[in-house]
Amino acid sequence: MIRELHNKLISGEITSVKLTEEYFARIEEKDKDIFAYLTLTKDLALEQARKVDAKIARGEKIELLEGIPGAIKDNLCISGVRTTAASKILDNYIAPYDATVIERLKEVGAVFLGKTNLDEFAMGSSTENSAYGVTKNPLDLTRVSGGSSGGSAAAIAAGEAVWALGTDTGGSIREPASFCGVVGLKPTYGRVSRHGAIAMASSLDQIGPITKSVEDAAIVLSVIAGQDKLDATSAHSSGKDYTKYLTGEVQGLRVGIVAEYIDGLDEKEKKSILEVIETYKKLGAEIVEIDLPHSKYSLATYYIIQPCEVSSNLARYDGIRYGLNVDDKKNSGVKEDGMSKKLLETYLDSRQYGFGKEVKRRIMLGTYALSSGYYDAYYLKAQKVRTLIKRDFEKAFEKVDLILAPTAPTPAFRIGEKTEDPLKMYLADMFSITANIVGVPAISVPGPEVEVDGKKLPFGFQLMAKWFDEENMLRAAHAYEISK
Ligand code: GLN
Repeated sequence: MIRELHNKLISGEITSVKLTEEYFARIEEKDKDIFAYLTLTKDLALEQARKVDAKIARGEKIELLEGIPGAIKDNLCISGVRTTAASKILDNYIAPYDATVIERLKEVGAVFLGKTNLDEFAMGSSTENSAYGVTKNPLDLTRVSGGSSGGSAAAIAAGEAVWALGTDTGGSIREPASFCGVVGLKPTYGRVSRHGAIAMASSLDQIGPITKSVEDAAIVLSVIAGQDKLDATSAHSSGKDYTKYLTGEVQGLRVGIVAEYIDGLDEKEKKSILEVIETYKKLGAEIVEIDLPHSKYSLATYYIIQPCEVSSNLARYDGIRYGLNVDDKKNSGVKEDGMSKKLLETYLDSRQYGFGKEVKRRIMLGTYALSSGYYDAYYLKAQKVRTLIKRDFEKAFEKVDLILAPTAPTPAFRIGEKTEDPLKMYLADMFSITANIVGVPAISVPGPEVEVDGKKLPFGFQLMAKWFDEENMLRAAHAYEISK
């Protein structure tokens, strides 16, 4: 889709301004029902688009993504633009700088339509934890779009953006991509700089693309990947042109499957994933059964490590340095008696009113698990189990090039279905979390749809690859996509 639009731009069939306006018109028409966007950046977008059109008019060469409108998850900073992470505590926060991914996208002339909805601070699997409202699934408005990057995935599915960025700490790019029938890619930990992403769980967070096709994901990844001196965990690797690896060829590629990942599925979902396996066989890949004996502990490990990192990362929201301050009547909407408050009360009140229920739950869990006396029993133990899970993957990758699994256990669930029971919500990530725990890249691709209540819904499968082997992952994902 990006390449097609690029060709239209250079042939003069469309202009970037026209294209951008078309997308804003679609947002105007559809987003009342879907609510993918929290903030639109129309002036910025049109200014970016005009620059590209002028360049084309001068006969200059343009990049593939140049002049193509996209959407940015609202936990990524764009200088001068409101950035809320879907939290009341950042309701009035205007980012003073660009995230590295934004800087790179600006360098290639990409156009930003706006900021998309998410679960507050990216904690959740449905966008129901957003302080501003739920993003509905464009394919069925009674269902969730997934989360936490639900706004970005819904924007792509509804044709409200050509490409989008999400973040993925435990599945937040891939699960919404699966629910909305689009492609979502979580790069290897360290492949993409996290500088300017609002930190949630820093040893797990990664930024990546959500797009209509695998090629589009490869195009966006090529722009945002690469080392960055502003993120000490970004790997010593330069970005490359990932589209080069989309050969359509998977002959001889060894694809691992894990019995427990498939046997536990309900019949319809199982059928979908078995069909994907058949397709890979037909395409010439070798299917190999593998064991990941410790991966059943991934969810438990995640729900110790993630809250611990959350409790320290979110300590900075104290009502003084960022966003909401309940003493500041203009921003808080909280009734005040006019008395000046003591500092501690300001901290406590700002956090009390600024954070939602799920965020508070994670902060409490993390603070508890890190407290002296419990640190060894929980945090340290979880880190040890993390190493065991990682070793399983190292062993598995001696035998296979890729691991194939469902992205999520079910297609999109109904709005409200899991909100009363946090554990049920957490289980939506049972297959996606492991890739974050071990740091490998993973992509969700739409597989055969699954019928629920007489309606066909998208259901994605996921390919995980060795650390820094986005090439083979994209190659295999693309080969499946073009075989359909
Ligand atoms: N759903 C998971 C959580 O709530 C993962 C979220 C994410 O990947 N950002 O923590």
